[in-house]
Amino acid sequence: MVQLNENYLKLPGSYLFSDIAKKVEALKASRPDAKIIRLGIGDVTRPLPKACVDALRKAAEETGTAEGFRGYGPEQGYAFLRETVVEHDFRARGIDVSADEIFISDGAKSDTGNIGDILGPDNRVAVTDPVYPVYVDTNVMAGRAGTLGADGRWDRLVYLPCVEENGFVPALPSVPADVIYLCYPNNPTGTTLTREQLKVWVDYARENKALILFDAAYEAFITEPDVPHSIYEIEGARECAVEFRSFSKTAGFTGTRCAYTVVPECLKVKVGGEDVALRRLWNRRQTTKFNGVPYIVQRAAEAVYTPEGQKEIAENIARYLGNAKTIREALLGIGLKVWGGVNSPYVWVKTPDGMTSWQFFDHLLYDLNVVGTPGSGFGPSGEGYFRLTGFGSAEQTREACERLKKA
Ligand code: PLP
Repeated sequence: MVQLNENYLKLPGSYLFSDIAKKVEALKASRPDAKIIRLGIGDVTRPLPKACVDALRKAAEETGTAEGFRGYGPEQGYAFLRETVVEHDFRARGIDVSADEIFISDGAKSDTGNIGDILGPDNRVAVTDPVYPVYVDTNVMAGRAGTLGADGRWDRLVYLPCVEENGFVPALPSVPADVIYLCYPNNPTGTTLTREQLKVWVDYARENKALILFDAAYEAFITEPDVPHSIYEIEGARECAVEFRSFSKTAGFTGTRCAYTVVPECLKVKVGGEDVALRRLWNRRQTTKFNGVPYIVQRAAEAVYTPEGQKEIAENIARYLGNAKTIREALLGIGLKVWGGVNSPYVWVKTPDGMTSWQFFDHLLYDLNVVGTPGSGFGPSGEGYFRLTGFGSAEQTREACERLKKA
């Protein structure tokens, strides 16, 4: 008889975005004239850079010729893209990473989810709270999370609250953690760690033989000099951290799909007295379960690093950051407490007057016709907070902010 992976049955339904959609639809039905503005959006809205579209077109033409046809590519990604990534994202910043340590993939979502395949079931996993839900749910699927309590916490996960009281800087875990997910600039809070603050985690991981899974999907939004672009800027990180990057938010690839993961050669875990390189296991995992990103998409990703590509992505990111700044200033102007929006497209706001995240959602939706995302949807410590994003249009963002200021 078939047996299921019953860990999947432990997962609660993922209702956050469907609940939001239902409320918005109901409002539209009852008040068809309401001009609803969506500032909850977690997807990019600007078109793909022309440099990427040109590269896509050229590569597509090439694969339609006998000489240029490509079948299965290397599972780790083509050398042209891995070498370009190393040159621009690492060597240009003085960071030591080699092309053999880069694994091109179809997304940071898949990679942050799939990395658990090479980790044992008994690891103690720590997550910041609030958190990008993929880290939690994939550990539930793997049986590493335990049981969900009435307080919304899984009893085998170690939660690292990031709240106003600690300035959104997670404290080291009070119980030993073997695997630690860190995402900076952070989704959903938009906050960052300085080099000094990140070093505390690298030192902890080295001392405790823990593994850091560092999600830098929003690296391109960093504007402040003391915020590290890569965890490998921190001494010793190559021995304890895997880093995830993505072209999704950087270059508008959310629908085109391309990302990469860095697994340093010297990142090793002791197994029965022997050092095993994580890179070897991740390579085995990828070559078995993944057949690579399309050639044409990798050419498009390569074009991100051309001077035209760089100029175009910088303009798009500046627009999103400009929107985030508009939101941030409007909220500060009406006396709310706000974080993020400086090195991130996400603005995190404390709900006023002790309102819950959903009460604030309802207020914004019904009274101002503005849609955001309740912080409680990202974890128990997100209760009492709310996420707005700079991914909308400048005009709609300004209009939404006018409504906020008048409210
Ligand atoms: N990591 C974080 C923190 C994200 O917020 C997202 C997308 O919203 C992803 C990863 C997914 O990236 P990708 O589109 O490369 O799968």
